[in-house]
Amino acid sequence: MTTTPPEVPTQRSFVLIKPDAVRRGLVGAVLSRFESKGLRIVTLQLRQVTGEESDQHYAEHVERPFYPPLRAFITSGPSVALVVEGDEAIEVVRALNGATDGRKAAPGTIRGDFSLSNRENLVHGSDSQESAAREIAFWFPELG
Ligand code: GDP
Ligand code: MG
Repeated sequence: MTTTPPEVPTQRSFVLIKPDAVRRGLVGAVLSRFESKGLRIVTLQLRQVTGEESDQHYAEHVERPFYPPLRAFITSGPSVALVVEGDEAIEVVRALNGATDGRKAAPGTIRGDFSLSNRENLVHGSDSQESAAREIAFWFPELG
């Protein structure tokens, strides 16, 4: 008797390579983590994030005390916005990114290897299927 292997969902996740990574010349290093893992880049664009875009993207955080400096940071220079695709891409991207605070993120993760900050942590990745759908539709409406 053969058993059917469990279904592994192919997902898309929204990734933002933040201004600290662009300033530090780490875009290639960050993209390389996703590509080496086997995720496929669906679309990619260099963007200057505006304050209004930050407010929408980070809608869940706008009332938090850390939001004003986060908004200043995320609008401080160009970012690279992209969508990646692959098996369980949402969780895989979060695992590659590492914990939010770069000081606590595990070595081997993007944040763990390249960030010493809780704010300037190089990369954003969607945290759920709902967030991924919302963020992809917001940043790349043509993919909706
Ligand atoms: P993420 O999903 O791991 O990116 O983390 P969150 O969604 O909780 O927070 C969004 C972003 O806000 C983080 O990536 C950080 O850039 C910033 N941030 C979150 N929490 C803090 C905090 O406690 N202090 C500071 N300075 N920044 C924070
Ligand atoms: Mg988040």
